[in-house]
Amino acid sequence: MIDNYDSPWMDEELHIMRDAVAKFLQKEFVPNMDKWEKQGFVDRDAWRVAGQAGLLCASIPEEYGGGGGNFKHEMVLVEELSYANITGFGNGVHSGIVAHYINAYGSEEQKKKWLPRMASGDIVSAIAMSEPGTGSDLQAVATTALADGDNYVLNGQKTFLTNGMTANLICVVTKTDPSEGGKGISLIIVETELVEGEGGFSRGRNLEKLGMKAQDTAEIFFDDVRVPKENLLGPSEGKGFVQLMQQLPQERLIIAAGACAAIEKALKITSEYVKERKAFGKRILDFQNTQFRLAERYTEARLARVFVDDCAMKLADGKLDEATAAMAKWWTTQKQCEIVDECLQFFGGYGFMMEYPIAKMYADSRIQKIYGGSNEIMKLLIAREI
Ligand SMILES: Cc1cc2nc3c(=O)[nH]c(=O)nc-3n(C[C@H](O)[C@H](O)[C@H](O)COP(=O)(O)OP(=O)(O)OC[C@H]3O[C@@H](n4cnc5c(N)ncnc54)[C@H](O)[C@@H]3O)c2cc1C
Repeated sequence: MIDNYDSPWMDEELHIMRDAVAKFLQKEFVPNMDKWEKQGFVDRDAWRVAGQAGLLCASIPEEYGGGGGNFKHEMVLVEELSYANITGFGNGVHSGIVAHYINAYGSEEQKKKWLPRMASGDIVSAIAMSEPGTGSDLQAVATTALADGDNYVLNGQKTFLTNGMTANLICVVTKTDPSEGGKGISLIIVETELVEGEGGFSRGRNLEKLGMKAQDTAEIFFDDVRVPKENLLGPSEGKGFVQLMQQLPQERLIIAAGACAAIEKALKITSEYVKERKAFGKRILDFQNTQFRLAERYTEARLARVFVDDCAMKLADGKLDEATAAMAKWWTTQKQCEIVDECLQFFGGYGFMMEYPIAKMYADSRIQKIYGGSNEIMKLLIAREI
């Protein structure tokens, strides 16, 4: 069957994990999706349940409480969340991004302090790069962290943080030397339990969005917030921009993997629908327009799958370059938006009704072309290599 494509990186262990994750999501997450979408965040307890089931920090070493896997394990999780149409659970940011900053640049003490609690779901994390005044141009961040005795004093504002309302560990992109551009950037971990209630740290409202309704997305504010100097990630100040550049390919591939799985899911539910629904005495699938369009979209889905699989294998081997990750991110998310839109059309008016999953997929897909570095920025990164 057209849906049965075995990715070359899948092995028996990953198949077992995939089945377990799919069952877990159907049991623990799917029944709560409506509630989470209405309240605008995933229940805090769900993180702990996911931690107990081994879904968090799957690619972090076991000695720090993680699953001891690699990027393929993160891929399985991202894909299964997409297949189950669960878009609000910010585990890509938590396990796929923040945990990896700590694992790659944290001291032994930092890793032991934070990673096991992230793996258990006791800590939920966020990354704060974007600011009201700058998103794409990361070198222009204005949030400062100036040294004062044993502390850094943080001032500034961040926005659009995934997990922003629930996070209690935030990796903040700051300028420790505001006179510099990229070379003045440092990553500093803010433990909200230590600063909340002290004055100076605050969260804005949970931002109302077009899609991804179950994901809390928030602004945060720093007004003379004191953070111990030992919360700096990396051996010295000024390494933040390089650290971001090293980790961003993984973030982009997580987005691409989600896009690829969303395309597959959209085609699956659409082909089921066009086999059932009738017009003019025929199934919608019997119109040649439907057949040709779906044949084209299935071909694109396969191209996306083969490309993303290749990138995933390269990333797991530490060989994925920045331009190729950028290609995967822009192309798959562009295709996701086009294909989900075209699939929705086959549902007619029902496609516009929120009780049909394709409607949610349409709303949720739009952000994919914007976050993680907009698709225009992805093309700049590729063009730089020409
Ligand atoms: C739901 C959601 C979740 C998010 N999660 C996070 C998160 O967890 N952490 C975080 O830090 N951020 C997060 N973001 C922010 C996101 O990464 C930024 O919105 C994105 O990087 C774009 O930045 P911007 O919004 O400031 O747009 P801008 O940088 O102002 O860009 C506006 C437009 O101009 C284009 N543009 C900019 N520069 C160029 C150029 N040089 N050439 C051509 N075109 C250009 C852009 O592509 C875009 O189309 C999230 C955003 C959303 C909506």
